[in-house]
Amino acid sequence: MPQNNTSMRTIIVKLTICVIFLSLGVSCSRLENKNAKKLKKPAFSPTLLEQNQIKKQLIEGLDTYQPKLIPPAKNPDGKVKNIILLIGDGMGLTQIYAAMTANKGKLNIENCNCIGLIKTYSSDQYITDSAAGATAFACGEKTYNGAIGVDDSGKPIKTILEIAEENGLATGMVATSSITHATPASFIAHQQSRKMEEEIASDFLKTDIDVFIGGGKKFFEHSVNNKNLLIDLKNKGYQVLDKLSDIVQIKTGKLAGFTAEEQNPTMAEGRGEMLVQSTLTAINILKQNEKGFFLMVEGSQIDWGGHNNDLDYVIKETFDFDKVIGEVLDFAAQDGETLVIITADHETGGLTLIGGDVKTGKVEGAFSTDGHSSVIVPVYAYGSQAQRFAGIYENTAIFNKMLDAFGFKR
Ligand code: MG
Ligand code: ZN
Repeated sequence: MPQNNTSMRTIIVKLTICVIFLSLGVSCSRLENKNAKKLKKPAFSPTLLEQNQIKKQLIEGLDTYQPKLIPPAKNPDGKVKNIILLIGDGMGLTQIYAAMTANKGKLNIENCNCIGLIKTYSSDQYITDSAAGATAFACGEKTYNGAIGVDDSGKPIKTILEIAEENGLATGMVATSSITHATPASFIAHQQSRKMEEEIASDFLKTDIDVFIGGGKKFFEHSVNNKNLLIDLKNKGYQVLDKLSDIVQIKTGKLAGFTAEEQNPTMAEGRGEMLVQSTLTAINILKQNEKGFFLMVEGSQIDWGGHNNDLDYVIKETFDFDKVIGEVLDFAAQDGETLVIITADHETGGLTLIGGDVKTGKVEGAFSTDGHSSVIVPVYAYGSQAQRFAGIYENTAIFNKMLDAFGFKR
């Protein structure tokens, strides 16, 4: 019996040890399985690409153009008489480099010698929208997403365009969206929400803006309480026109140019030279003011290409915007008293470039969101006082730097 007891005990001990090792083994393999699952699904895996959750696109064979060779600014330290602010909505570094690659390695924007970076977050969100982004440029204050020319508490803040007007300068705006859309609206209107486009239209009448060209006729024709502001504009002395061929004929006086009922067509749909021609028309009228001018031009639809996750749309809109940049730099180089600033309110689409060839113009990209991203965006400057825009700073500093360059007080 004692012998049997001993062997039984040995068996029990051995069994217990086996159970412990077995359970350890099972839990270890469970851990391994867990880790294996984790490793199999990183955020940007080929699996997601295959599932088409990330849209990988190959663009090649687009019509290219020859960028201009602009000489260095005549008076880099000189007085600033005119400022032209060019905003590529949603135009981050990858949008620019996608277009640069598709145009076989060169863009007009490369003529800018002063480069900076801006932090785009708004007062309430890490990822800004175009309203808060443009209000930061126009008013020098971070505000909530959706705000048009008002601060974080909803209080109206004077815009650079209004300050320029007060100082006797001529003012203008050109956009490929509706002229009442968030970006241009933030330079002229003061409303709690970007959605209030009829109220935004009525704010245009409260200013003395000299030239504005873009879409959005319907918001003026049927404004608040169905008031027809086109009549009010005419009574105020504006030439109110809705054909680009008529708009480009205007050489002097006040001009309200409506190139679309709401938004303008895309480049792919045949918008043609609307942005280039409208910008040149605006400059030719505004430059007649002896004190100078402030002009804001927006390439509005680079953003919409990003929202659509459509690389072809993004590149064609960026080409159009870059052609405007070429014309504007040409003017500034000859004028010698103009400061040109080119920037973006934010990046759109989380675009990455995963392949391409500058020799053939082939470019391969993938989007990671159909919204905006938070990434820092570039600023390019050319002309008098351009060096002010080098460095890394808040988007609100664009306003302060423009104000200082003009020598104006808020
Ligand atoms: Mg915009
Ligand atoms: Zn957007």
